[in-house]
Amino acid sequence: MKNQVLLSFFFLLFFGCNKYTPPAKPNLKSEIGKTPKNIILMIGDGMGISQITAGMYINGNKLNLERIKSIGLHKSYASNNLVTDSAAGATAFASGVKTYNGAIGVDADTTSVPTILENLKAEGYATGLVATSTIVHATPASFFSHVKSRKMYEDIADAFLDGTVDFFVGGGLKFFNAREKDDRDLIAELEAKGYQMGSYFDEDFSTIKIDKTKKFGYLTASKDPLTVEQGRKYLTPATEKAIDYLNGKSEKGFFLMVEGSQIDWGGHANNTNYIINEMIDFDKTIGKVLDFVEKDGETLLIITADHETGGFALNIGSTMDTIKGAFTSDYHTAALIPVFAKGPGEELFKGIYENTAIFDKMEELTANRLP
Ligand code: MG
Ligand code: ZN
Repeated sequence: MKNQVLLSFFFLLFFGCNKYTPPAKPNLKSEIGKTPKNIILMIGDGMGISQITAGMYINGNKLNLERIKSIGLHKSYASNNLVTDSAAGATAFASGVKTYNGAIGVDADTTSVPTILENLKAEGYATGLVATSTIVHATPASFFSHVKSRKMYEDIADAFLDGTVDFFVGGGLKFFNAREKDDRDLIAELEAKGYQMGSYFDEDFSTIKIDKTKKFGYLTASKDPLTVEQGRKYLTPATEKAIDYLNGKSEKGFFLMVEGSQIDWGGHANNTNYIINEMIDFDKTIGKVLDFVEKDGETLLIITADHETGGFALNIGSTMDTIKGAFTSDYHTAALIPVFAKGPGEELFKGIYENTAIFDKMEELTANRLP
């Protein structure tokens, strides 16, 4: 008998201590009272505090970001490196797991992990992706595909055939119809599956008429889209058309991810003007999205970055008209990253938390929706 008591004591001790205790869930009703119907996640790739600052001063000391009051910070590190890349960074937002640099929609053991876009699609939400990189680049890819390496662009493009993305705009046409691994024409295959497909090759995005009864895909370049300086103009109109297309498509709501992809590329190039032009372009789009969010009242907008790029600083000698940019790296850095939130549930994004918590909060808000 004594032995049995002792045994059960050790049993409890062992299993009791090893039992996983999930983090306390917020009491949504008392904390926020209302949850969002739609979620728009905007990612400025490589957009740290200094990139935002430089864009703000050159833009006349003002950004649309300043319209947002709920602000937090996230810890951007990857599972295998304090300095994350865009693949691990986007997978953290999309799926809530810390994974290794290069991983797209898979965890640190290369096992596929469901994404917020896939989860919401399965519940009947409408879904969309807009990017100023190729649409198969790491950031958008992490929301709808699952591959071991971010370089597997053609495999990532294949994942569009699942139909989980209702609306997408970005570069990378060649990964659909001028492929190295096979002779497939994914444009034709997607059209056969009910997509209205278009590209820069046939028609300018500004003149395209979108058939709302179909799904929609538009490829803005063969590979990487132009820079703002070279004349790229589609981020704002594509985002507005995405919202117009997605809003009301499903009575459940919609999920849209919009990426200002090239703020990062300005950082890699150690090019201050490149960063500023891309930052201001992204902020203009933010302004249009905020107009919608403020009017709609049922949409939560979250704006963040995956990481900072360049170790960018505004050095002495800078003025509000001329930024003397300086760099510590031509790669990413590990600094804390700002998160801006507006709309029902915005309060949950204040504070300092892991990048994976952005997924947790979006899941929490949509899974426990309050009227
Ligand atoms: Mg990116
Ligand atoms: Zn980068």
